[in-house]
Amino acid sequence: MKCIGAHVSAAGGVQNAPLNAGRIGATAFALFTKNQRQWRAKALAAEEIRAFQENCRRQGFGPRQILAHASYLINLGHPDREGLEKSRAALIDEMRRCRELGLLALNIHPGSRLGRITEEECLSRIARSISLALEEVPEVSVVIENTAGQGGHVGHRFEHLAAVLERVADRSRVRVCLDTCHAFAAGYDLASAEGYAETLARFEAVVGFSCLAGLHLNDSRNALGSRVDRHAGIGQGALGLEAFRRIMRDPRFDGIPLILETPDPDRWPEEIRLLRELAK
Ligand SMILES: [Zn+2]
Ligand SMILES: [Zn+2]
Repeated sequence: MKCIGAHVSAAGGVQNAPLNAGRIGATAFALFTKNQRQWRAKALAAEEIRAFQENCRRQGFGPRQILAHASYLINLGHPDREGLEKSRAALIDEMRRCRELGLLALNIHPGSRLGRITEEECLSRIARSISLALEEVPEVSVVIENTAGQGGHVGHRFEHLAAVLERVADRSRVRVCLDTCHAFAAGYDLASAEGYAETLARFEAVVGFSCLAGLHLNDSRNALGSRVDRHAGIGQGALGLEAFRRIMRDPRFDGIPLILETPDPDRWPEEIRLLRELAK
């Protein structure tokens, strides 16, 4: 069974996210639990938490169909002490928000070395940042997303994800999320049948499907290996419809949130229907 949805808006309060997801025919969703472009946020009000949980229950979303996404400002591999500490505090705060909402998983971007430290050093800092947060906040898992490898971002090789997983103290609460656009832009050919099989065999060997917590379903505006993170609508980019047909028919992606982050929210109902068709 595929759980398909999108990263929906939580404007006006987190309680609106499950309603927005229900409206587009989703069976999974992602959300920001705070403004993703600001460091600070108001604490969640008891009433907001209650309404969120009530709306999730009514729309039939359990915690396993929901993937919270952390702020874009956080850099868990920051080269400077100040930037690193700010990011670590923000991760802990976001994990606490998840816990208050009854959510089990927080999706993060691994981090950027900002051209100042090595990949190795950056990956070690990220693992340490995650370990510290897991010590502070129980129950919530950290889900590391692969990147397109743009700028100084690490996480574009499966080996980077594996390195972080290996270095985190509590392995039971750290998993990964694969973004199809990012993987393709990073040079993993998910567009051809052979490339798909090879990429996923590589993922299984290096990271393992047992660590996979979700997928971000995005087509790519740019070519294979471009290292440019530009999402396109399903079937409207360089990945193409056949790539998504393979994914939708692959039982390895059953039961985890499959989240659209495609550019046009007005098309989400149509894209969700299309993905369901492809699964048949
Ligand atoms: Zn992301
Ligand atoms: Zn993504």
